[in-house]
Amino acid sequence: MYQKLLIANRGEIAVRVIRACRELGIRSVAVYSEADRESLHVRLADEAQPIGPAPAAQSYLNVPAILQAAARSRVEAIHPGYGFLSENAHFAAVCKTWGLDFVGPEPDTIERMGSKTAARQRMQQAGVPIIPGTPGPCGLEEALAAAEQIGYPVLVKAAAGGGGRGIRVARSAEELTKVFTAAGREASASFANAELYLERYLEAPRHVEFQVLADRHGNVLHLFERDSSIQRRRQKVLEEAPSPLLTPELRAQMAAAAVEAARAVHYVGAGTIEFLVDARGRFYFIEMNTRIQVEHPATEWITGFDLVKEQIRIAAGEPVSITQADLAIRGWSVECRINAENPDERFTPTPGTVTRWRPPSGPWVRVDEGTYSGDTITPYYDSLLCKVVTWGRDRPEAVARMARALAEFEVEGIHTTIGMHRRLMAHPDFLAGDYHTSWLEQVFMGQA
Ligand code: ADP
Ligand code: ADP
Ligand code: MG
Repeated sequence: MYQKLLIANRGEIAVRVIRACRELGIRSVAVYSEADRESLHVRLADEAQPIGPAPAAQSYLNVPAILQAAARSRVEAIHPGYGFLSENAHFAAVCKTWGLDFVGPEPDTIERMGSKTAARQRMQQAGVPIIPGTPGPCGLEEALAAAEQIGYPVLVKAAAGGGGRGIRVARSAEELTKVFTAAGREASASFANAELYLERYLEAPRHVEFQVLADRHGNVLHLFERDSSIQRRRQKVLEEAPSPLLTPELRAQMAAAAVEAARAVHYVGAGTIEFLVDARGRFYFIEMNTRIQVEHPATEWITGFDLVKEQIRIAAGEPVSITQADLAIRGWSVECRINAENPDERFTPTPGTVTRWRPPSGPWVRVDEGTYSGDTITPYYDSLLCKVVTWGRDRPEAVARMARALAEFEVEGIHTTIGMHRRLMAHPDFLAGDYHTSWLEQVFMGQA
């Protein structure tokens, strides 16, 4: 096992990885921008290295600065967390040439799954169902022809997109013509890649994703699913595991497809296969995330299995420490993402000083946080403050615990999304498990 590992990230996920390192007896090295000198991840790590000015392009995305920090601190491995460099094949490859283990899959796997069109083609070959759409990146002419075949509405998606950005609906040929140019411009600005493709727009689907884990010894496991259908602007707001939607039969089919998908790309490490499920219970691959996900704690809680420690062990060459037969769904887990945003002002981020931070605790409550009382939230990065995760023997108990936990949560000095989550816990549709990817915006916010 490693003596020392560097975490090329910040916030709650850096804290999460530091905690895993401590449990494994590995010294942790944090990196920080000028805006993050006083951040929680810097305080909790065994060592910390500066990597540059506040803007992410000059610090958390600054590959030479991060590699120099790794060399200075003599680490053996780098954990990229999520976002930032976690799905950057070039970074994963450069780590190798510097003799560092990248905690994640091989660079060519990241590359292949990073392009959503290439991923779709690969999945189709592997027999995993995909949403009808263009076979690869397309221009406007091809998009218009494809849309006639597929039928409107369609989605224009950026091949290199992520974080819910670079996706637009078109309900007619005129609209498609209009959004196509704008989408291309947006994609090249946001992802430095103008490639677009077309997919049928599924009305009111569920987003159900499978956690997979694979090692260098040929073992590929799944750790069941999470339901991430509660979304705003195609970004996840709340997740739960298992999904209230799945029957044991559908779960078995989707799990088999997820394992097949991971095998098809020789996957190594922790990854997520994202699917949409339509009203008739048909499921379709949408993308693979080749990294740890924000909502991994829900899976950890229903399986009793530490995904971050396992990622690190796998990177070090060890086999996964469990077999598929050992895994079962135990109880239910719900996760709420708490962001520094003002729900009354169209969720604009609200930087400022956290004058009071008293997170919930007590039975079966887990808080993965990246901040503390007296901390300053800057405008430079993602607005996620923490995740509150609860467990119950069944869904009603997990939800009741979440309602109780959120009621205890006291934050002053900044706006947060805690109030919205409290209202969610009391909504009859949510209590019934009856929602879809447009439900939060169309139903919950529509009437809130
Ligand atoms: P990202 O890389 O931004 O996460 P995804 O392809 O995973 O992009 O899609 C994000 C979300 O957008 C999905 O969870 C779903 O809500 C919505 N979405 C994506 N593709 C479709 C589709 N074909 N039909 C309907 N909704 C979709
Ligand atoms: P998850 O898929 O783990 O639920 P999210 O979609 O919320 O995670 O993304 C996790 C973080 O990574 C967010 O901060 C998001 O903005 C960022 N992110 C994800 N994909 C990209 C991307 N392609 N480019 C930039 N940021 C991204
Ligand atoms: Mg996605």
